[in-house]
Amino acid sequence: MPGGGRVNRTRRGMIIAMDGPAGVGKSTVGGLVAKSLGCKFINTGEMYRALTWKALEEGVDLDDDRAVLDLAKRLKWEFKPVEEGGTTLKTFLDGQGVTLQIREERVSVNSSRVAANPGVRRFLSKLQRELGRDGNIVMEGRDITTHVFPDADAKIYLDASPEERASRRYRQLKSAGQDADKGAILAAILKRDLSDLKREINPLKQAPGALVIDSTHLTMHQVADKIIRHVRREARDAR
Ligand code: C5P
Repeated sequence: MPGGGRVNRTRRGMIIAMDGPAGVGKSTVGGLVAKSLGCKFINTGEMYRALTWKALEEGVDLDDDRAVLDLAKRLKWEFKPVEEGGTTLKTFLDGQGVTLQIREERVSVNSSRVAANPGVRRFLSKLQRELGRDGNIVMEGRDITTHVFPDADAKIYLDASPEERASRRYRQLKSAGQDADKGAILAAILKRDLSDLKREINPLKQAPGALVIDSTHLTMHQVADKIIRHVRREARDAR
């Protein structure tokens, strides 16, 4: 089959898996693709962030792998849209939406510690597979094409230079009226790249058969169009 993937014919709908480094626009693009194809969309980084936030709130030691995993297992995890008819599934912990809390700086700087926890990775990968069981989903993260759904119907690796990713983030903060330091943003991006690429378990890498898109000189709509065309091609070839 083109793309090197195996189409799982027992599933009802397509699974579109996307990976790539921090700040590359996976969520924006994933949301556009999902809307256009009538799929659900989920950003799996939010799950790692949600658990990090809850652990910080409860004073759980992030270096205590067992305690963080126990916390994950105690929580009631739900994924649903925030508005009626929405296609983007957001994370709820014990009935509470955490969209704003998970963007706090303390969560951003600590989530890679939680993401390196082997038990947590197993636990969240299982949740992600359950979410994708019926297909019709676009899922993005760091290990979706390589580990969670290596047999996805379409696999995408989205990339952009660190400088471009930092500039995008800088413009985003500025247009939201916030203070921003380009050098500091670039340093944070390079640090996150390093921890994603060097992680022992399920590091970020290009999956065999993934369509690699360098978005450095493309708009988010151009990237989404490329992906939609690729998905349609894969679906046609699999018939
Ligand atoms: O995508 P985002 O940067 O919000 O992800 C938050 C954290 O979760 C990061 O440390 C990232 O490396 C990690 N992550 C992961 N596996 C995924 C998604 C995110 O390790 N599938």
